[in-house]
This record gives sequence, structure tokens and C-alpha cells, in this order.
Amino acid sequence: MMRKAEGIILRATDYGESNKIITLYTAEYGKIGLMARGAKKPRNPLASVSHVLFYGLCLFNKGRGLGTFYQAESLNAFTSIRTDIDKMGYAALIVELTERLCADGQPSSQIYQLLRGCLLDMERGIDPAFLAALFSVKMLPMAGIDPRLDRCIHCGGRSAPFSFSVSGGGLLCASCAAKDPHALPISQTIARLLLLFKQIPLDRIGNVDLKKETIHAIEQIINACYEQNAGIKLRARRFIEQMDHFRTPDKK
Ligand SMILES: [Zn+2]
Repeated sequence: MMRKAEGIILRATDYGESNKIITLYTAEYGKIGLMARGAKKPRNPLASVSHVLFYGLCLFNKGRGLGTFYQAESLNAFTSIRTDIDKMGYAALIVELTERLCADGQPSSQIYQLLRGCLLDMERGIDPAFLAALFSVKMLPMAGIDPRLDRCIHCGGRSAPFSFSVSGGGLLCASCAAKDPHALPISQTIARLLLLFKQIPLDRIGNVDLKKETIHAIEQIINACYEQNAGIKLRARRFIEQMDHFRTPDKK
């Protein structure tokens, strides 16, 4: 049966001489694998739409296994993301996390809206590192991680300063942190931001202007959570870290 849905392509791999297999994410059907026949041939209409980060209205047939991708119409070419290597890196991270954390055929309009919203915000000029950090915090539960961010995980104490325990899954107050050699000390700002990222919906966050070091500290914590608690190492993270070596020190 032919279906039409708005979606974002998370992955595209070559298949044979002329085809591609794409992974499309939609609100209605979740993550689905589709064969894009002829997509490797430059003159085929599917060639221009069968790529990662394509966002548009898609026409496809969804079978039991791999479905068939028929045609698609772009809703936003994400030109600003595609022409900026920083944005590309962070968009790749968002897309990779979605691809790895969402199981096939499990629809979630909440995750679809979050994915779409983050990419559209990035295209509009909102800080890509901030959006990727926010997205990563909001996706933690999909990896089975739900850090306690409003009080100490051991004694329930609510007074700062806090540390963060990756293995314990959340904040530690000063006296509990003293007993944990792996606790990472964090500033009050970081503790507050982590909670904010977790609780506030994307459309209510508005414009933010966070220091590069602040976002970097959040990235480190979230990254450690994904790696140590879920065994997830992201290719895009490595790419972003490599890009950091090319940056001039005075760039924000
Ligand atoms: Zn405590």
C-alpha cells in the first residue's frame, strides 16, 4: 500500500550499482528502511532526495521488510547546515543518535518533532552545539538512561555544589561526592542547565547564548553517560572533536 508521510532521512547507503537503501524517520511509522531504486544514477529523480538530512514529503511503500521509496518533495533544503562544517557535525550527531536509539517501526511523534525542531532551529541560526546537547539530553531515556538531576541520588539533598556521577546516574551532593572517587564536580550553572534541558520543551527554550565552555562541559557529561551506561560511541562525536583541532583559539 502506498503511503505518504513527512520524514527525515537518517541514513543512506549504496546498494549495488544503481540503488541506495535509505533509513527514513517519520512521525507516523517511526524508523523505516526503504529501497531507492536508481538513486545512484545522477539523472534519476531519487538521486537528489536520497541523502542524509533530506527533509520532506515522501511517497513510499512499506512492506514487511524493506519498503520502496518512490518520490519525495523537499520541505527545507537545510542549506545553511549543509554549507557550514560545524553545523554539519552537530546535525550528523542528532541524526546518528536518532538512528541508533530508535527501533524500527516504533513511531513517536514526540521524537520526530524534537528531531525536526532541532534541525529547523539549527537552520535558523540557533547555536548548533547547544541544540545537539539539548537533543542528547532529551534522548537519554531512549538509551535507558534517566539521570536524576534535581537532587542528590544518594541522600536526596538539594543544596549545591553538586557533582555528577555517571555510574550512579545523576547528581551527588558535596558530602556524598566525597565518598565517590569518580564523581565529576560541576558548577551550579551546569546542574541547572542539565535539568532545564531535560524538562523544558524545545519550543519554550527560545534563544540561548551559552558559553562554549559551558556547552562543552555538558557534552562531556552526556557523552560519558552514553558511552559508559549504554555503550554508545558516536561517529559524529569523533568528527566534531577532530574539527576542534582546526579551530582558531579566539573563535567562540
Ligand atoms: Zn547526598
